[in-house]
Amino acid sequence: MSYPSYRPRAKKTLSRSSTRITILEYCERKYYLNYYTFALKQDHPDLWKETLILKGLKSIEMRVGEKSHYLLSDYLHDLKKVVKDGWDALSAEEIQSLKDEIKLEMEDEFAESAQRDYKSDEDFFGKFGLSEHFYGTMTDEMLPDAIQKVRDNLDRFIASTWNSKVIDYFQTAKFVYVERPRTRDFDAMKVNVSKLPGFKDITVMAAPDFGVTFSDTDFLILDWKSGKEDIVDEGISDQLKVYALKMLLKKGISTMDGMRIEAHEVYLQNMHTHGGVLTQQDIDGIIKKIQHDVEEQKNFLVDRDPYRNDPVDVIMFRKTSNAKKCEGCTFRDVCQKLA
Ligand code: SF4
Repeated sequence: MSYPSYRPRAKKTLSRSSTRITILEYCERKYYLNYYTFALKQDHPDLWKETLILKGLKSIEMRVGEKSHYLLSDYLHDLKKVVKDGWDALSAEEIQSLKDEIKLEMEDEFAESAQRDYKSDEDFFGKFGLSEHFYGTMTDEMLPDAIQKVRDNLDRFIASTWNSKVIDYFQTAKFVYVERPRTRDFDAMKVNVSKLPGFKDITVMAAPDFGVTFSDTDFLILDWKSGKEDIVDEGISDQLKVYALKMLLKKGISTMDGMRIEAHEVYLQNMHTHGGVLTQQDIDGIIKKIQHDVEEQKNFLVDRDPYRNDPVDVIMFRKTSNAKKCEGCTFRDVCQKLA
């Protein structure tokens, strides 16, 4: 079999993000397949190609999460504009138009994925795809259900108290930041950890969905969650703590001295909120956690060298023993073929 020309991406130094750590904790093999795909090219060229295709796929449920973030971000950006013009809400027509746009987007991408020939060398890399099409498990109701879930998430937000709070922030706060998840700015996502001990050659990535600056010392961070509520996780999540640390580091400090940072995760499925006001203990704790995560990631690198960021042999990345985790894993086909 011949392969289209593919230039491996330039090697990057090791990076740490909440997504990366979540995947590593979920399954080491999945972490390898997702972040070190290039390492398969020499020894397993067939599997390398298939892994690249699988890496670009999303399940329809993952797509619901992504599109919910897009729609909410579009809505908040438009809301910010109309509030600036003296209004306090988008019209029903404007909201409907945003929902129609996202519906069209999802239908077009679905059709693109359905028509795609996943076995073709032409359809090799960088194209949109749904894992249910790849695995032949898509059913008729999945697309309309997914579109409805995305629209419901926006409706719940608009009906919640967060909507009126957000309008108030747009009217009164010093500055309000709304993330643009469609066009992520990776440079802006970088957390400047160079002054923290033990972070040489490491990149830490983090960007919240929504941020409010009330004054030079008073901040609010919000993160939208489209998945199921994690009932066990009652306090302030590590992800929120990293966002708070990023804000402090941007100010050139790593202590809460005189600062007030409140942070919450807002679950769009039921509008429940988890979070609170950050303490110095939270900041000290998250610095230690990042250091621990980085050391853990280095265990999977040749010579533990984050600068070269070369993975050890694939066999060292253990497959999870929890079969339930594999059921919806987009890599399950290639994973079975790898020892
Ligand atoms: S199929 Fe299971 S073992 Fe394999 S990468 Fe996915 S989660 Fe890990």
